[in-house]
Amino acid sequence: MARPTSASIHTDALRHNLAQARSMAPHSRVMAVVKADGYGHGLERVARALEGADAFGVAALSDADRLRAAGLSQPIVLLSGFDEADDLPQLRRLGVETVVHHISQVEMLEQAGAGEPIRCWLKVDSGMHRLGFAPQDVREAHARLAAASSVAEGIVLMNHFASSDEFDKPQTRQQLQAFAAATSGLPGSRSLANSAAVLGWPDSYADWIRPGGLLYGISAVEGRTGADFGLRPAMTLSTRLIAVNRVGKGERIGYAATWECPEDMLVGVAAIGYGDGYPRAAPSGTPVRVAGHDTQVIGRVSMDLMTIDLRGVPEAKVGDPVVLWGPELPVERIAEASGTIGYELTCSITRRVRFVEA
Ligand SMILES: *Cc1c(COP(=O)(O)O)cnc(C)c1O
Repeated sequence: MARPTSASIHTDALRHNLAQARSMAPHSRVMAVVKADGYGHGLERVARALEGADAFGVAALSDADRLRAAGLSQPIVLLSGFDEADDLPQLRRLGVETVVHHISQVEMLEQAGAGEPIRCWLKVDSGMHRLGFAPQDVREAHARLAAASSVAEGIVLMNHFASSDEFDKPQTRQQLQAFAAATSGLPGSRSLANSAAVLGWPDSYADWIRPGGLLYGISAVEGRTGADFGLRPAMTLSTRLIAVNRVGKGERIGYAATWECPEDMLVGVAAIGYGDGYPRAAPSGTPVRVAGHDTQVIGRVSMDLMTIDLRGVPEAKVGDPVVLWGPELPVERIAEASGTIGYELTCSITRRVRFVEA
C-alpha cells in the first residue's frame, strides 16, 4: 500500500487569497511570488491557479524556465537577479525581467551583446542591508542602466522590508522614507510591499505589490494566522494512523523516552515524520487533529513516524485520518511550537509526500 501521507493543495484558496490581495491594494498590480516551488505548494500548480496575477516572482532562472515550459506567458521577475553574463541570453530567450542589485550586474548589462532589451527592477537598500544599492549610489546605477542598450525602457524601482510584520515598530516607516529620498525625481514604477506590508502598511502599496506567503494563506505576522486576515490556507498536510496501542501509566514513548504516560492510555502512531518535512523540533504538546478531534503530539517526532495522544479521541482506530496542518489547524501554530515560521514548514515538504489538488 502507498504511504498515506499527502499534501492537498487548495487551488480555490490560492485564487481567493489573490483576490484578497487585490481588494486590499486595489490600485496596485500584483506580482505573485512563487519562489521555492511556490512556497512548497508546487510551482506549476500554483502559477496556473494564480494565472490572474500580473507577474510572477521567482528566485531561480530554472523556475522561470519551468513556468514558460508550462505555457505561462505572464511577466516573470528574477528576484535575486542574475549571477553571470551567461545568464543574459537565457533571460532574453525566456523574456524574463531581472532585479539589479549590484554594480557588477550593471557592468554585465553594459557589456551585453545585441539582443532583446531586458526589463530591470533596480533594487534600493533602504535599510535591510541584504541586497540593493545604497541610497547614495541609486542615481548613478539608474543612469547607467537607462543608458545601456541591453536594458528595456521603464526601469522599476523597488526595495524590500526587514520588519514589515511588526506593525508598531518604526523600521518600516524609516525604510519608506529612505526609499522615497533615494528615488525622488526618478521616473518609473515603484514596488515595495511583501505580504506583511500588504497586511499592515497601506502607504507601501505603490504600483506593484509582491505578496508571497499571503497567497498561500500563511501569515508572516507573529501571533496571527492567515484566517485572522481573511486568508485561506492553501495546503492540508495529512496522513493516517497506522497503529493504536494501549500503553501503561509511567511508560515512556519514543526516542530518548521524552514523554511519560500519566495514566493508562491509547497512543496513536501516524505515518509522518521529519523525512516527510514535518518538523522534528515540534515538541510534545504540538497540536494535531485525529478523526476531527484536537489532540497533541507526544514524544519525539522521528523520521517516518510520530506518536499522538489519543485520550481525547474516542474509538480511535487504525486508518483514522490525521491532519498535521490545514484550514482547521493553522500551520502557524505548528511553526510557533517548533520555533520557526509557517513559510519554512510548507517549503520543507519532501518528495515522498504525494501532492494532490483538492
Ligand atoms: C520572497 C520575497 C517577497 C515575498 O515575501 P512574502 O513575505 O512571502 O510576501 C517579496 N519580495 C521579494 C524581493 C522577495 O524575495
